[in-house]
Amino acid sequence: MTDTLPPCPECSSTYVYQVDALLNCPECGHEWVPEEPGKGAPEVRDSVGNVLTDGDTVTVIKDLKVQGSSSVVKVGTKVRNIRLVDGDHDIDCKIPGIGQMGLKSQFVKKVSG
Ligand SMILES: [Zn+2]
Repeated sequence: MTDTLPPCPECSSTYVYQVDALLNCPECGHEWVPEEPGKGAPEVRDSVGNVLTDGDTVTVIKDLKVQGSSSVVKVGTKVRNIRLVDGDHDIDCKIPGIGQMGLKSQFVKKVSG
């Protein structure tokens, strides 16, 4: 292993060494499984911290101006079947009466059920 090992999550020691699949900290004795890079997508959370997933229904929590048009997505607009994407606008969706557009997750709230 020539890669730099991550510091100990318990005590931040950098004298971490690897034994088989485990990382070991000689300073506090902590052992843990290193996270594989790229494993799992980063979580996208709505305005109140709910984790969003593909296919969720959300409502818009503030009026949002649609870029390049005079349309506004009104607060309370219900958006079905969202899709999570990478980027500044991390939700891809189709808004009734407006069409396909990107939303920012901090301006929506998940609808449960
Ligand atoms: Zn440690």
